[in-house]
Amino acid sequence: MKFYTRNETRKINVGGVVIGGGSPVAVQSMTNSDTRDWKATVRQIKQLQEAGCEIVRVSLPDMQAAQNVRRIKKHIKIPLVADIHFDWRIALEAVKQGVDKLRINPGNIGAKERVEALVKEAKKARIPVRIGVNAGSLKSVHNFSDNLSRAAELVKAAMQHVKILEKCDFYDIAVSLKASNIATTAEAYKLFASKRNYPLHLGITEAGSIFSGTIKSCAGMAIMLYEGIGDTIRVSLTADPVEEVKTAYSLLQSLELRSSGIEIISCPTCSRTEVDLIKIVSQMEAEVAKMKFLKKLKKPVKVALMGCVVNGPGEAKDADFGIAGGKNIGILFKNGKAVGKVKPQDWVKKLVSLIKKMN
Ligand code: SF4
Repeated sequence: MKFYTRNETRKINVGGVVIGGGSPVAVQSMTNSDTRDWKATVRQIKQLQEAGCEIVRVSLPDMQAAQNVRRIKKHIKIPLVADIHFDWRIALEAVKQGVDKLRINPGNIGAKERVEALVKEAKKARIPVRIGVNAGSLKSVHNFSDNLSRAAELVKAAMQHVKILEKCDFYDIAVSLKASNIATTAEAYKLFASKRNYPLHLGITEAGSIFSGTIKSCAGMAIMLYEGIGDTIRVSLTADPVEEVKTAYSLLQSLELRSSGIEIISCPTCSRTEVDLIKIVSQMEAEVAKMKFLKKLKKPVKVALMGCVVNGPGEAKDADFGIAGGKNIGILFKNGKAVGKVKPQDWVKKLVSLIKKMN
């Protein structure tokens, strides 16, 4: 039972992946290959697919990149979103090439007539459009020094475009309102959610490196997800995009919004710890990452690796099974109850075999 409820949003269909309306929060990422190099882009998308990415976005800086959309799509299994800035004609080409969704930036897409022309084509192709507002490309946002006014400015920009689309009788809309400041972003999403029920794509833009960006993205998105806001997420990291997907799933798993796969619980270690728990946990994580069958698990598995038998089983009582350390030994337990002993060098092997048996 979740401790919070999600907002009721409209459903949109992005190439077979449903976003909104209570669907699982979808995990997105974006390539950083040169889209003009379609082979390199396909290679990267395949890595993202393998990591569990459900929707992938590519930027289309020019016509040559847009003309690669069909070719790229032929080689991948997940929906492809075209990210368009400035030139609306590139967006038209992407639609012609069979893209699954468009992302336009109100800060630079230009005149209303251009947006209307795009919407007409998106409607014919039956693909959704994301209105992706970004504080960095809206000069007016920076006229304000307080977060609430900046948030209101982001929402104002989004609403202007939402209304253009609605006037065209087009409702397959997703919206994002990203800023690099958490308070501005969270307030903007909250304000928008009070006005319209279009599904929301969450993200903290320019979040930073793998370490600081992960913390900032998770801190920001957790605030919104906890409030029931958010239908799809993209963690933005200055890193290999595969890391974005891994981080997104860990965040959603920690909030109990997605629960496929294996969750590893481990204690922080202390003076009672008598095994090399740090090493064992990193070995276990590496094994879990290799277990391709994870996606097929019917029931999520919680595995606990604890440093001692004094507090270990109690602290991990929600785990399906786990091991708590003693002097050169580990007590194997199921649902908090001791059921056997395992030597520290065999912990990972034992747990992996138990997970496999559950499958
Ligand atoms: S489970 Fe045991 S070893 Fe780990 S932090 Fe708690 S008391 Fe320390």
